[in-house]
Amino acid sequence: MLLLTLSLAAFGCNQLKALAGGNKKKEKPPAAAEAPAVPAPPAAAEPAKAAVAEPAEPARYGVPFAWESSPNEPLAKARGFLAEALHANQLAIGLGRQHYAPFAEAQTPRATVITCADSRVQSNAWDQTPENDDFIVRNIGNQVSNALGSVEYGVEELHTPLLLVVGHTGCGAVKAAMGKPDELSPGIRSELASLKLPPARKGVKPEDAWTDAVTANVNAQVQLATEHFAELVHSGELTVVGALYDFRNDLGKGYGRLQVINVNTNTDSTRIDAFLKAVQGPGGAAGAAGAAGAVGLNAPPGANAVPTRSLTLNGKPVGANETVEDRVKKIIDRAQRALPASKKPYVTVSASETEHAE
Ligand SMILES: [Zn+2]
Repeated sequence: MLLLTLSLAAFGCNQLKALAGGNKKKEKPPAAAEAPAVPAPPAAAEPAKAAVAEPAEPARYGVPFAWESSPNEPLAKARGFLAEALHANQLAIGLGRQHYAPFAEAQTPRATVITCADSRVQSNAWDQTPENDDFIVRNIGNQVSNALGSVEYGVEELHTPLLLVVGHTGCGAVKAAMGKPDELSPGIRSELASLKLPPARKGVKPEDAWTDAVTANVNAQVQLATEHFAELVHSGELTVVGALYDFRNDLGKGYGRLQVINVNTNTDSTRIDAFLKAVQGPGGAAGAAGAAGAVGLNAPPGANAVPTRSLTLNGKPVGANETVEDRVKKIIDRAQRALPASKKPYVTVSASETEHAE
């Protein structure tokens, strides 16, 4: 979210620059006029030049949002989002150098996360402080093959020991792939083409068939990734985990639950349960090694041990027993102190919202 708001801030700046320099540009017609003398260049570049020469466009950019008359208009909604983003960014700025310095020069994430672009799926469901820890790749349908370069960058260049595939209940991309491809735009159709979903089981209700398809997709992505990074998985340098983020409680295990369904292609629920017990239990590395055994990983004992998370707050280690809730509260308190007293925190934290985050 920080990255998003920061990039939005940058977007705002560009708009201002465009405003300031609005009268000076578009001096290109002479160059464009020379172009036709060149014998038949590739057609693709021509429409763009024609659009640049269009005289009506600068006026619209010159006075953005001036003509909105209703809060429901797209321009008003866009303005509202940007206003909130820039305000919220003050909190990020308020964290100060001390917060950013530890990762200013290099990133050291521990997880490559591939998840759906769906706006209801955000990393704060599993990590309240994802900066420098979650290398997140997103697309519709949380697909590995569509973003293989990004996933390889996280796994092979940044050496994240975990590749987490997060699908979600109610996934529109999966539903679209279950439907008629002809009704999709060419761009969406091509991006969904690699989603291979099994046929629905006979007699299953449409809602359940949808959840089955979401589950099958996560399993397929884990399968693909595990095979692609097989050497790293076998050596214990990488663990591939598939999970469903269930903000609709379709699985009946609680709203917002991150349900792990697959570890290195193992989907047997008994083994997954044993793995999760060991990961979350007090056994630390020994427990996690047991977990690796529980899912039948083909790796030396302990090789798949999940590193114990060393909690830091603004670069300083905090107590090993500190809860996620306590840590987030501290971060928000610090951000709050950096703001004028009149501003209120925009985030509230409760145990129920954060207990599943790690
Ligand atoms: Zn989705």
